[in-house]
Amino acid sequence: MAQEAHGAIYDLLAVRGVSRRDFMKYCGYVAATLGLSEAAAPQIAAAVEKGAKLKPALWLNGGSCTGCTESMAQVDTPDVATIVLELLSLNYFETIMAAAGEQAEKNIADTIAAGNYLLIYEGAVMMGEDGNTLLVNGHKGKDILEEAAAGAQAILAVGACAVDGGWIYAHPNPAGGIGVQSFLDSVKVATPVVNLPCCPTSPEWVVAMVVQWLLVAGDDPAVFLEKTALLEKKYHDNYRDADVSLLYPEYIVGSTIHDNCPRRGHFENGEFVTEFGSEEEAKGYCLYKVGCKGPQTYTQCPVTRWNRSVSWCVNSGAPCIGCGGLNWVDNNAPFFKRLSSIQMGGSLGNVQPGSVGAVVGGVAAAALVAHGLGMKAAGRIGDGPPIEEMKAYDRKRMAKGGDK
Ligand code: SF4
Ligand code: SF4
Repeated sequence: MAQEAHGAIYDLLAVRGVSRRDFMKYCGYVAATLGLSEAAAPQIAAAVEKGAKLKPALWLNGGSCTGCTESMAQVDTPDVATIVLELLSLNYFETIMAAAGEQAEKNIADTIAAGNYLLIYEGAVMMGEDGNTLLVNGHKGKDILEEAAAGAQAILAVGACAVDGGWIYAHPNPAGGIGVQSFLDSVKVATPVVNLPCCPTSPEWVVAMVVQWLLVAGDDPAVFLEKTALLEKKYHDNYRDADVSLLYPEYIVGSTIHDNCPRRGHFENGEFVTEFGSEEEAKGYCLYKVGCKGPQTYTQCPVTRWNRSVSWCVNSGAPCIGCGGLNWVDNNAPFFKRLSSIQMGGSLGNVQPGSVGAVVGGVAAAALVAHGLGMKAAGRIGDGPPIEEMKAYDRKRMAKGGDK
């Protein structure tokens, strides 16, 4: 690939201190995330350049902590502004766009009216109180999503909250947070949704899927689906009492964290950390007995890692808490306790079903109650979630197996 052929993009990158070599290296990394060989890097670089200012996109926020935005904002090779804001022509991004007020409203309305755009959605779709648990400029968040989704070519549901409601979906889910696909099923919008797991999701996964869209989709979402290796997972949305089918990139959810974990040898040798601060912890032994959910969580975290691939949870000494799984808070809390009925391997359809026999244990429940009472005493919350109902729920789950 001749450098002159892509002069514009290299000028743009140079302004941001990103060399051609670094950019090509990054494209090679994106190729690997897409399951391609690094030889596809020039093709990817060309696709990114071709997409510059040609493909409009919207980034909408549902109920979230904006951690996925923050995760994206930490990418610096090249930075998020280069890849997404400038190359993709991102017309609306609530948390970091310069536009405000009427101009911001006009940007989203004009983009929807013109059509032919990619929709990136972060956060849970807030259904509680008939959608009034999330209002943006007086409009219900769920209505904004419905309109934007109906006109989009494809949707990226980024992060656990967008996938199935994430931590907001955890019992008793008073705000009614659910995932994008489940919501779109309920309003009969058939725009394809590709889900990117974890809390937050990996910026590299987002960029890889954006590049894939630029690379293969053209104006046809069917091509995007056909040419992207995807896996399907099913779950039951308790809030809607409906079965939901999700599509994920195969590369990202095709193997467990345990499969790729650098501590796996210690697991096989029976060398475990049983207490934080112990000699075993200092030796970097396996974290399974202090709650690691790596064996039942299907994501590429050990391979992709975060912060320019420097590290990830287990690498930095923390057990995986399984945020890449479905209904991950209910299924995995208390996070630092070993689950009694952990699942090893098996088909994707069996990953973290709603019935994993684990649970919010007594200590965690007590802490939740104490925290809730403290907040209430401080006048920071109203009646809050139904504590008695939560306790009954916890007791029921403990009776099914509890944590050991
Ligand atoms: S249990 Fe966790 S720390 Fe141990 S090998 Fe598996 S993924 Fe790694
Ligand atoms: S390693 Fe586990 S806890 Fe960490 S981001 Fe991945 S799925 Fe989430």
